[in-house]
Amino acid sequence: MLARAITNFTLNSREPSRQVYAPTLLPQHRSMVASTTSARTAMIKPQKIAIIGAGTAGLASALVLRRQGHDVSIFEKAAQIEHVGAGLLVQPSGLAVFQHLGVLEHAMDLGAPIDALKGWSKKRLLVNSHYQEASADFIGLGMHRASLCEVLIAQLRADGIQWHFGCDVHRLHDHVSHMQLTSVDKQGASVSYDFDFVLVANGARSHLRPAAWTRLDKPYPWGAVWAIVPETTDLDYRVLHQFYHGASRMMGLLPTGRTPDGKGTRLTSVFWSLPAEKIDAWITSPQTFSCWSDEVRQLWPSAATWIQQSLPTDTPFLPARYRDVVLRKHGENRMGIVGDAAHAMSPQLGQGANMALLDAWALGRAFEHAQSFPEIWQHYHRLRQPSIQFYQTMSRLLTPFYQSNSASLGLARDMGFTWMAKLAWMRKQMARTIAGIKRGALVEIDLDAIRRLP
Ligand SMILES: Cc1cc2nc3c(=O)[nH]c(=O)nc-3n(C[C@H](O)[C@H](O)[C@H](O)COP(=O)(O)OP(=O)(O)OC[C@H]3O[C@@H](n4cnc5c(N)ncnc54)[C@H](O)[C@@H]3O)c2cc1C
Repeated sequence: MLARAITNFTLNSREPSRQVYAPTLLPQHRSMVASTTSARTAMIKPQKIAIIGAGTAGLASALVLRRQGHDVSIFEKAAQIEHVGAGLLVQPSGLAVFQHLGVLEHAMDLGAPIDALKGWSKKRLLVNSHYQEASADFIGLGMHRASLCEVLIAQLRADGIQWHFGCDVHRLHDHVSHMQLTSVDKQGASVSYDFDFVLVANGARSHLRPAAWTRLDKPYPWGAVWAIVPETTDLDYRVLHQFYHGASRMMGLLPTGRTPDGKGTRLTSVFWSLPAEKIDAWITSPQTFSCWSDEVRQLWPSAATWIQQSLPTDTPFLPARYRDVVLRKHGENRMGIVGDAAHAMSPQLGQGANMALLDAWALGRAFEHAQSFPEIWQHYHRLRQPSIQFYQTMSRLLTPFYQSNSASLGLARDMGFTWMAKLAWMRKQMARTIAGIKRGALVEIDLDAIRRLP
């Protein structure tokens, strides 16, 4: 249904990779560019822009740039937008960007509001972090990845974006005066396009990152398996539940809301942490489910009741593997990199989608305040670099406390949380870190500035 809706607004959906680029500046955008330009003389003139990847980062960036009057084309290697992915937790920082993009109401309708993260070690409540401790008006929103993409696509539908589905972009060439992008379509034909500006948003495994920009690009030793199941009614549905046993066992249950197909069933995502090399065997072995539910029953009886009652033994679990990607810079002249392609990290702090949304917001600000391509990246790095650095460092430091074979790290985490829970200031800092608003240990993003509509 979603795929059908999308083909209604593509120019030539039967031959997605051969759509002719036809620059269009809608009347409402012309006036927007004119008025914005006169108000802020710095705004760069409308550009012909290609965005590679229709995930959170690509779609949100497309929305921001199209609203500024640029001609935006999205290249996506999948043949259509697919209802794939588990639950994502959109933090208050991501919700501020939703508000900026005008999609907050739609997102709230599909997602599951979350008030708190509770982490249990055996029967002991170890983590009890409430968004309200960060700010009285903060909540999180559990969403299916397809719902997150759908709220962005719904806004893009009216905006005359050029869609190129089934196009695997495999090469970018900087000709100084323009960028050339080469993609392969489903029939294996290679097609080249010229653009003023290219934004790479094709996820953690991007092969389009210039090697010279890449400081670090390596897989995490641990990942997870996950499944989407009907919403649990045995546990509080406004809480992200985590269950720990040392650092080697962890289960997460995230209320995930509805998918966009409108069937109305509310969902929960279940995550089970595993060393990366054990993921494939876990998924394919027929004994896995019964061994796993036995283990959960022994470790956390309250969650085991839910598994027994709500999860059929043939529940399909899927793999998730994480990468740690650090770039020296996120853009130069006519090319930039956003989302996981620029700063993939472990999902321990639940920041992947938020970071992608903040990238899009910052890109919009940078385009608004620059008169040349180098200036765009000066503005962008100033807005994004501190926050990206903070969350990547925190994710890298914290992940072994949750996902490793170290008994001492698990013990240190349990003792640390017990101690931190007693200090109101520490609880507040923890809640504000999870909320996605940090630019440093004691420096924060101004969410009111983000929430404002363009
Ligand atoms: C299938 C899938 C499932 C996910 N599930 C979860 C999840 O359950 N929980 C979670 O926290 N995070 C998940 N993520 C990651 C999460 O969506 C990201 O952290 C975050 O949303 C940032 O998104 P992104 O747009 O940077 O990258 P992504 O969401 O990875 O999107 C990248 C897009 O680029 C496309 N692409 C890749 N290569 C090319 C190419 N060469 N040419 C054209 N298009 C290309 C991909 O098909 C994809 O649509 C998932 C990502 C994917 C792709």
